[in-house]
Amino acid sequence: MEYDLFVIGGGSGGVRSARYASEKGFKVGIAETKDLGGTCVNRGCIPKKLYSYASHFSSERKIMESFGWNISKIDFSWEKLVRNKKKELLRLNKIYKSLLENSGVKIFKNWASFNTKGELVLDRKKIIKSKKIIIATGGRPRRLNIDGAEYCITSDEAFDLKHMPKRILIIGAGYIAVEFASIFNGLGVETIICFRGEHILSSFDEDASKFLQNEMTKKGIKFLPKTLPDKVKRISEGYKVFFKDKKYKIVDQVMFATGRVPMTENLGLENLKINRNTNGSIEVNGYFQTSNKDVYAIGDIIDRIQLTPVAINEAMFLIDYLKKKKKKFFSYNNIPTAVFSDPNLSTVGLTEEQARKKYKKIKIFKNEFRPLKLSLTKFNEKVLIKLIVDASSDKVVGLHFVGADAGEIIQGFSVAIVNGLKKSDFDKTMGVHPSTAEEIVTLKSK
Ligand code: FAD
Repeated sequence: MEYDLFVIGGGSGGVRSARYASEKGFKVGIAETKDLGGTCVNRGCIPKKLYSYASHFSSERKIMESFGWNISKIDFSWEKLVRNKKKELLRLNKIYKSLLENSGVKIFKNWASFNTKGELVLDRKKIIKSKKIIIATGGRPRRLNIDGAEYCITSDEAFDLKHMPKRILIIGAGYIAVEFASIFNGLGVETIICFRGEHILSSFDEDASKFLQNEMTKKGIKFLPKTLPDKVKRISEGYKVFFKDKKYKIVDQVMFATGRVPMTENLGLENLKINRNTNGSIEVNGYFQTSNKDVYAIGDIIDRIQLTPVAINEAMFLIDYLKKKKKKFFSYNNIPTAVFSDPNLSTVGLTEEQARKKYKKIKIFKNEFRPLKLSLTKFNEKVLIKLIVDASSDKVVGLHFVGADAGEIIQGFSVAIVNGLKKSDFDKTMGVHPSTAEEIVTLKSK
């Protein structure tokens, strides 16, 4: 065998498993057909966060005047943002390459697949022999099957638009739709977001997602719940988007943010008899092993929780398992996460609905308030903080936060929740005054 381990896909999960395995003494190869770093670095977390920073300055700008600043001469260049983003991503691609090379991983810039004999091949030519294989091929944006879908962009294209649109319609209610709505709105684009459900972010705590929708409405985003388009037509002023009730909107850009599809096309999974779930993702057991005993899969392609830290942790768990055959399964409990909208929504632990199902009795501690930073302005934007406590053990089982920097604040509090701290432990902790986050340790039941 040429390799102990060969990894298909150089994204968050693939790069980490290759590096970690090589450091543990495996002889490792990796195939990536596009850019190292995968979705997160090139078309996901990183460019998204850079664009969020760019757009959220406009909220700061609005309140600067009340603190005495003269803001009459501020200007924004989309083209410069795109250029600078590209430079930064190239820098990151190089870092990923050298991290892999320095750990002794052999990199192939090829498409990997399984041929009809079940062999692993690169660009359908070079046969690779490896004892174990990890599939970490991630996903791609889903497009709706409607008339005129070919005119619509997805998050992949949104980062590199030649010009910033004046009006955009985003279809979807998940975190990618919500984050892009905030990005475009913050940059001055007239932003409409339409979706099938009644409110955005349906898998998050309902109070928090409805609260965020309200705050984003205050910032000028237009929400169209229970509304999906059935046709997009190109017209001289842009695109005309038709809805089922005969209403329409005219915009310059239409964006699908309607979920992600697992990247299994042209992989030849059928040649190895690898089972798939109903949505096409790869089926694995508690140790990420597929129905073929020598082939494993991690990250978005298994569609458990599609987040970079999850893919990275699955990768390290799997390599540790291959080295030592640990008995415990990977845990998906208490994964902190943030929606980097303006304002942020961050969360760790259970939603109120999940907690009510799991525990006999729960206590809710909640507060909505206007942050000090807005006190000199006329804005009435608010912060929401909600703690969910299991009444019998006093353990804090969920924290939901909508407000500026909630994505940063949740990281520290997730340590408390992951480690099972109680509400009484939170009460023992003094607040940092004056801050928004102090409210988390001073919440009283009402
Ligand atoms: P990927 O990162 O998708 O990597 C898969 C790689 O495999 C790709 O580079 C692809 O080119 C390559 N590949 C596919 N098929 C083949 C083949 N046959 N041969 C060779 N190479 C192949 N997560 C967060 O935690 N925080 C965020 O803020 C966040 N924001 C996001 C924003 C957006 C717009 C998107 C789309 C995603 C975001 N994510 C975020 C999710 C995160 O990017 C993914 O969960 C993560 O990248 C998954 O890693 P992965 O290794 O499973 O797959």
